[in-house]
Amino acid sequence: MRPRKIPLRKCVACQQMMPKKELIRVVRTPDEAVLIDLTGKKAGRGAYLCGKVACFKLAKKSKSLDRALKQTVDTEIYDQLEQDFIAVEDEFIAGKDRVDDDE
Ligand SMILES: [Zn+2]
Repeated sequence: MRPRKIPLRKCVACQQMMPKKELIRVVRTPDEAVLIDLTGKKAGRGAYLCGKVACFKLAKKSKSLDRALKQTVDTEIYDQLEQDFIAVEDEFIAGKDRVDDDE
């Protein structure tokens, strides 16, 4: 087995260190929109959350994204992101499995 470094990031909701691919990135774009970034490559300030809706709910409750993104995130934005989060969760889990197969 070839050794490889696993980049770790901290979930802004539960504060756990996790491999990057276990986390969903939320990005504040240069025009101040807050979006889920499944590719992890969008420009802007990023925050990471476990790929679990439970963690998103926790982030919403404690306003973790406001702090992580250094921007006030409106409740409506949290609601929208939560819907997006639920929508991408399956895709995210499927994508993760695909990545595992490649390695
Ligand atoms: Zn978490």
